Amino acid sequence: MAKTYDLLIRGGLVVSGSGIRRADVGIQGERVASVGSELPAGEAGRIIDASGKYVMPGVIDAHVHPVYEDDMGGLSVTAAHGGVTTLMHYASVKPGMKLIDTIKKFKEEGNQKSCVDFGIHGALFDPSSQAGDIPKAFDLGVSSFKMFMTYAKLKWMTDDYHLTAAMDVIAQKGGLAMVHAESGLVTDYLEDRSLKRGEDQKEVFLKTRPDFLEAEAMFRALSIAAVMDCPLYIVHLTTAKGLQVLERARGEGQLVYVETCPQYLTMTDAELQKQGALAKIGPALRTEMDRMALWKAIQRGFVEVIGSDHAPKIKRKEDPFFEAPYGSPQTETMLTVTYDEGVNTGRIGVSRLVAMLCENPSKIFGLFPKKGIVQKGSDADLVIFDPAQVFTIQHCNQHSGAPYTLYEGRRCLGRPTLVMQRGQVLVEDGAMKAKPGQGKFLSTKITKVKY
Ligand SMILES: [Zn+2]
Repeated sequence: MAKTYDLLIRGGLVVSGSGIRRADVGIQGERVASVGSELPAGEAGRIIDASGKYVMPGVIDAHVHPVYEDDMGGLSVTAAHGGVTTLMHYASVKPGMKLIDTIKKFKEEGNQKSCVDFGIHGALFDPSSQAGDIPKAFDLGVSSFKMFMTYAKLKWMTDDYHLTAAMDVIAQKGGLAMVHAESGLVTDYLEDRSLKRGEDQKEVFLKTRPDFLEAEAMFRALSIAAVMDCPLYIVHLTTAKGLQVLERARGEGQLVYVETCPQYLTMTDAELQKQGALAKIGPALRTEMDRMALWKAIQRGFVEVIGSDHAPKIKRKEDPFFEAPYGSPQTETMLTVTYDEGVNTGRIGVSRLVAMLCENPSKIFGLFPKKGIVQKGSDADLVIFDPAQVFTIQHCNQHSGAPYTLYEGRRCLGRPTLVMQRGQVLVEDGAMKAKPGQGKFLSTKITKVKY
């Protein structure tokens, strides 16, 4: 009998953003050759029994920073362990650096070191000198660009003039503007005032970043984007007030995508007292009320993307809060914790989770249907997820270079047991099988999908 498939995954529940069905998945070379019931085994190279398990598309983590304790290689390893098969890296173009050189450097590093496929967003820290090169970035396959509306003290903030100018260029080229929406100058004033008074730093941190300031910056970004007719992507939305602003803009028909992160869906500001400087992230962790509002928004399909904002830093719990760096390791735990907190609690079905982690980012960045779905012809990027396996997250079972995880001791039900990219096993039962450099660069192209 002729060889039918290189690999046959049998009896699993195949999940897409629109539903679940019991089906076998036959893989030939790098692609899915068929999805159907009772596919013939013939002389399949390998048969994997996935009964009782989900077969999901590989996760596309649309928000990672490979410039801290994990480089593009290390980040791909920690991500793959968590079921991520595509990474969208922010190429940080710090003040004084050039956009095009930076993109080239990131591409080169990814081609050498990445175990998973990857795309690149430009992160402009100084658009006044960098935005002029945006059109050339499209030729390199980069079409999404982030600006900060905060971090003025760090000299990373983009003012409204340059935000408008950047959106002008991005809109003309058919790209996507992304913003970190927080009113930086207001926070800076509040911080200076509070720190002079010698108040508790953790309290000051929260108090000087009230929810109004996320909503205000979002409204401003949305207004500028509307005037410039530029599609907008809000990274890491965290508040109920922000959602209200979004609702209004969407009601008026504006094209805006919104992302939130696992940390805002699983944790609250109470973590600052428990975990000290480890829980210093930007935007800050919010109240339980905000967390619930985010889940409600997700339940009604109002949030397109969950991305990790993986930014692993060296720090200790007891470090002086304002001196400690922002960020936490998140990509490896993203699927497991959002599944546990969303699906196991009955808030959402697994299909909605797959829409946000896989299908929607794939569509927004023009990778669909190559990525983000398990169907005939798509890349064989997939995760076999065992919903019955209990897993306790500990720093010692994670693969990031960060010296901690915010989820230490958290017991989750459900985890990926096999992760595959383009027909090749990346991780199986916790063992890494991939080689650095096997990941491929993916050009993005912004698709205007309205949700
Ligand atoms: Zn980020």
